[in-house]
Amino acid sequence: MQVRLLGVAQDGGFPQPGCQCVNCSDKSLPSSAAACLAIIDEAEYRYWLIDAPPQFQQAIQPLSHLKLAGLFLTHAHIGHYTGLMFLGKEAMNSELLPVYCSNHMADFLFENEPWRQLILNDNIACHKIYAGSLTKIGDVQVAPTVVPHRAEFTQTYAYHIIGDNKSMFYCPDIDYWPLESGDFYTILDKNDHLLLDATFFYPSELPGRDLSRVPHPFVRDTVRDLRKYSDKITLIHLNHSNPLWRQSPERKIVEDSWFTVGETGMTWTID
Ligand SMILES: [Zn+2]
Ligand SMILES: [Zn+2]
Ligand SMILES: [Zn+2]
Repeated sequence: MQVRLLGVAQDGGFPQPGCQCVNCSDKSLPSSAAACLAIIDEAEYRYWLIDAPPQFQQAIQPLSHLKLAGLFLTHAHIGHYTGLMFLGKEAMNSELLPVYCSNHMADFLFENEPWRQLILNDNIACHKIYAGSLTKIGDVQVAPTVVPHRAEFTQTYAYHIIGDNKSMFYCPDIDYWPLESGDFYTILDKNDHLLLDATFFYPSELPGRDLSRVPHPFVRDTVRDLRKYSDKITLIHLNHSNPLWRQSPERKIVEDSWFTVGETGMTWTID
């Protein structure tokens, strides 16, 4: 099975609407949907998604020759689920498309319009999955794990994609790396590929915004703390303000330390 990045931006996409910052106003930089991952079964002409960004059309367009077979959701922040609206009767009008998510997320969808309509109209069928449970899709298994992330609406899942020989850990949103946790090092050690939250490079990035209210591990610190694993780490979920969007001194620091900056279209084989 192939796994492909369909978007690498933070929830607002890139460029961010209405923004004139040095990144967003640079027309030479490619646009991107919010972070979204496809798990592709080419033999059966189908794919699954992890998360449904609001830039849904842009995200899935490269896979228009294949059938969407299901979705896994991480949490209820706008960049990660609002693309579900395109499954309704105004657009794709899907039929009982499996949506795998936490029980919090399933309850959130059932209790709030317009998502509730997707369930009542049988466009989607929510399947509650739990930390550590395995869902088989094609030749791989998908397993959620709960990660610390501000939980206004739902808890947040990261996902393992597990093949017979290779595995990936996909974690677009987390408040901090749990460096005191042995389980976290098990994740770092045992996976072949790690796609990790790199929302902000450093705290001064958003003048006038209190970044303690939007906690993420800063890339500056990730380079220090996770350097040992750098050759298998791809940095994703970049805020529009992040200097990693362009060839910057910050990007050089990251690449000189053997981290990879995520780009739409990057593909891995998990078998
Ligand atoms: Zn996000
Ligand atoms: Zn911007
Ligand atoms: Zn979030």
